[in-house]
Amino acid sequence: MEGDKAAVRRVDGPGESLDVVIVGAGFAGLYMLHRVRALGLSVRVYEAGSDVGGTWYWNRYPGARCDVESMQYSYSFDEALQQDWRWSERFAGQPEILAYANHVADRFDLRRDIAFDTRIEAAHWDEAASSWRLSLPAGRRAAARFLVLATGCLSAAKMPEIPGLGSFAGPVYHTGTWPRDPVDFAGKRVAVIGTGSSGIQAIPVLAEEASHLTVYQRTPNYSLPAGNGPMTAEYEAGWKRDYVERRRLARTTKSGTIYEFGTRSALAVDAEERSREYAARWAKGGANFMHAFNDLALSQEANDTAAEFVRERIAGLVEDPRKAAILSPRDYPIGTKRICLDTRYFETFNRDDVDLVDLRADPIEAITPRGVRTRSGERAFDALVLATGFDAMTGALLAIDLTGRDGERLADKWAAGPRNHLGLMPAGFPNLFTITGPGSPSVLSNVIVSIEQHVEWIAGCLGYLKDHGYAVIASERDAEDAWVAHVNEVAHRTLYPRAASWYMGANVPGKPRVFMPYIGGVGAYREHCATVAAKGYEGFTLEHGIGRYGNPTP
Ligand code: NAP
Repeated sequence: MEGDKAAVRRVDGPGESLDVVIVGAGFAGLYMLHRVRALGLSVRVYEAGSDVGGTWYWNRYPGARCDVESMQYSYSFDEALQQDWRWSERFAGQPEILAYANHVADRFDLRRDIAFDTRIEAAHWDEAASSWRLSLPAGRRAAARFLVLATGCLSAAKMPEIPGLGSFAGPVYHTGTWPRDPVDFAGKRVAVIGTGSSGIQAIPVLAEEASHLTVYQRTPNYSLPAGNGPMTAEYEAGWKRDYVERRRLARTTKSGTIYEFGTRSALAVDAEERSREYAARWAKGGANFMHAFNDLALSQEANDTAAEFVRERIAGLVEDPRKAAILSPRDYPIGTKRICLDTRYFETFNRDDVDLVDLRADPIEAITPRGVRTRSGERAFDALVLATGFDAMTGALLAIDLTGRDGERLADKWAAGPRNHLGLMPAGFPNLFTITGPGSPSVLSNVIVSIEQHVEWIAGCLGYLKDHGYAVIASERDAEDAWVAHVNEVAHRTLYPRAASWYMGANVPGKPRVFMPYIGGVGAYREHCATVAAKGYEGFTLEHGIGRYGNPTP
């Protein structure tokens, strides 16, 4: 079981047999590989894309940018890395984040253990061998004692169910599977369907490039100015001076990100003071606005004050009152659909060459060979951009035909919503770990902070099993039931379940409406996971399994 690749055994016909297989070479898969190697285990990463980067590899749409500040949206596990790397902007754009992922892959010599262009089609638990049997493309196979799914929460692009989509004569692009070669929209009439984070970022840039842009909006979104700009030497130095301490602090917060956390209720101050607070945060930019008061996610009345402030700003930014009204969200609390950050999004609708279609009043009937037909008529386009989001959190996991003990299919187990002990391991699926899986803080957090915590917990677990002579770990059903109930209970203490969001699976017809991420907070979750490990993996059974794993002490 040496890390040396020469030690990789070939068993059971064609295909390699490894201690650990990791699926996905985004930020989760890259760091997991680094940590597994350090344990001296044989490991392979299988990645569907042709290079590293995960979400930042696929989401190359114009304007793609992170909405967590660069100084915080980066790995913290290596002090030299975080000191050396230099971000050029407050919020890094996709090309720079992808360059960072490539830098990390090279710096830690990760590529030699990654097989690209390799999508895992199926994974079946083999009880007799205490390992996973994997089906790869072209009939190839592999076996792994442990399977770590680092497949991302927002990686299964969601095509809209619109009749005639395949009939459009021009090119159709989805923001989540954007081509690697640049797309030229100059002189083109372009339609964008979807106004979530991706659409809101792409629309201002597409408006600059295209000869005419039409935006099809179903649900208006709350969006805040990002306030992006060049990184200043002073700001960078401030972070780097005490990076270790700031990262430690971030890990204890609710979202894994350091903001200026308001400690008062929005209702504890008068309207004037509230407005001053919101205005100051709006001017600084970023999601810090959402932390102005401590009850915006909990109290409808408090939330209404922030929502109203944003609607007033939209009315001020958009010259045409009809468009401003269409762009103003009214029927769900602010923040309960993922808050968006933008750069001149609302102002874009003041351009003569940008139209807005309100699909609530004028729904799409079909995509035609020429363009888009709504109830009021057809518009012709040269290109379509679908910013229609993802089958979030479970989509990429269920895209793999996964069967666990006794042939149980993950798709059946999750038919009424995901059940995943600690967001880390579904009961009935031994030795299978999900990084930032449903039931963990994942999408409600600075995901790199959550990734690091999961990777380190999983690596600690693999090391523990190895040192203690166990080959199999499995979640207990009772423990999973208790965790799922807890995830549900804390979600329903907040306003989040009031929105028809992708957090709830509401954007995918037929998907169960369950609040999927854990909203209890990154800090509390980290502590809980650490306690579970310290108690010898309470809520999990440890088994000796078949075949040796690691070097048990006598
Ligand atoms: P999204 O938030 O799910 O937005 C999809 C949009 O498409 C929504 O406006 C949706 O309308 C619309 N839509 C879907 N199906 C439609 C249909 N059949 N007809 C008309 N409209 C349709 O997806 P996203 O914008 O790709 O963002 C997903 C998540 O990825 C974000 O919430 C965020 O977590 C992450 N992300 C982050 C960044 C960043 O860091 N800045 C950037 C992009 C994405 P409804 O709301 O009515 O369903």
